[in-house]
Amino acid sequence: MRTDFSAEQLADPDIAASEKVLRTCTHCGFCTATCPTYVLLGDELDSPRGRIYLIKDMLAGSGQVPAETVKHVDRCLSCLACMTTCPSGVNYMHLVDHARRWIEEHYRRPWGERALRMFLGAVLSRPWLFRLALRGAALAKPFSSFLPRQLIPMIELAPSSVPPPVPINRPSIFAAAGERRMRAALLPVCVQKVLAPEINEATIRLLTRHGCEVVVVPGSGCCGSLAHHLGQETAALAFARANIDAWERERLGGGLDAIVINASGCGTTVKDYGFMLREDAAYAEKAARIAALAKDVTEVIGTLGLSPPRSSANVQSRVAYHSACSMQHGQRLHSGPKALLEAAGFEPVDVPEGHLCCGSAGTYNLLQPEIASALRDRKLANIAATRPDVVATGNIGCITQLASRCEVPVVHTVELLDWATGGPAPKALAGLAGSPARDHRDQ
Ligand code: SF4
Ligand code: SF4
Repeated sequence: MRTDFSAEQLADPDIAASEKVLRTCTHCGFCTATCPTYVLLGDELDSPRGRIYLIKDMLAGSGQVPAETVKHVDRCLSCLACMTTCPSGVNYMHLVDHARRWIEEHYRRPWGERALRMFLGAVLSRPWLFRLALRGAALAKPFSSFLPRQLIPMIELAPSSVPPPVPINRPSIFAAAGERRMRAALLPVCVQKVLAPEINEATIRLLTRHGCEVVVVPGSGCCGSLAHHLGQETAALAFARANIDAWERERLGGGLDAIVINASGCGTTVKDYGFMLREDAAYAEKAARIAALAKDVTEVIGTLGLSPPRSSANVQSRVAYHSACSMQHGQRLHSGPKALLEAAGFEPVDVPEGHLCCGSAGTYNLLQPEIASALRDRKLANIAATRPDVVATGNIGCITQLASRCEVPVVHTVELLDWATGGPAPKALAGLAGSPARDHRDQ
């Protein structure tokens, strides 16, 4: 794509980086076929190619940001299906991240939108505040029709009860069972530790059982991805720097072979810390080192090798494997999680249209509820077509989005792997534990 930024504009390192991305796009349009918003809405401006043009004009302009551009960039899920499809290697992720920052800095949103985005940025990254907000949402459920329209998706998605805090999420060291083969820091994913602490519990059991010492490092916390996707870059970079400081201290102290992440949305962001902090002389090198250590939990178990399943009678379930966009497009992890499920004795099946987002996408289901619900319903219909006993995925956002309407339990992949190798049955499968695959598949 031709660009004509001035020398003055190109002196801004962010513009220079985006210009490189823009120039790799050949306008071929292959990406439109796999873009969820284009598939749903059929508008070129809601396709990757359309958005790339809008972003180019916005960045090259005088600083005025057209409302129309904001509308179409906001509708982008950052699912990155377009990056998987693009034959020219366009790094749409870095381009749209820059566009979101630019909008945040140069465009004044209506006050209701501003307030909602500030609220989400502040609350979701602070577990104590998030817990409080969930309690408030549960109380507000019966009165949701009297509340501002913007709050309704949040109240509908909030669970009716919140699990109590568990000690496992506090800074601690969990020793490897038997010979120590690896030492890893676990990112204490902020939303997940409030909504589903059982996922971290299963992760720690699974890792320690496989010879990995796990550390929840003091000072580590929110990865910054929610703020990053809201364009709130100062906050996102502050979270990133705090994690880098904490993990670097631990790496130089007790040593770290990996940073394990069990929410693929967060994993995509931590793996990008090197790029996010490339212009920060004090952090660039450390950020690149930390990013290189970041691994999804299934990558780590793949490296350690899954122990033979211990309770095969319990795990003959047909598992619809929903590959989160951040897993398959963001981190390019495709076959690993499914291979582990198979090795554990499950029958993993692919979901039709598996490349399309479920509509969760960070805060997207709260900010764009109509599109998010349409994508969720489409995903659920595709899941139902596989006639599964259970759905497995590696991202808390997808679990929350799908479980709210899914006819079968939705669990994290590690909960199934933990169960198969000696852990307890996942909480969501309590009724199915010990039972063989359901009969309905044979009908
Ligand atoms: S597929 Fe890649 S090169 Fe083609 S229009 Fe889309 S982003 Fe541009
Ligand atoms: S990130 Fe997803 S929604 Fe956004 S343009 Fe790419 S494919 Fe479309």
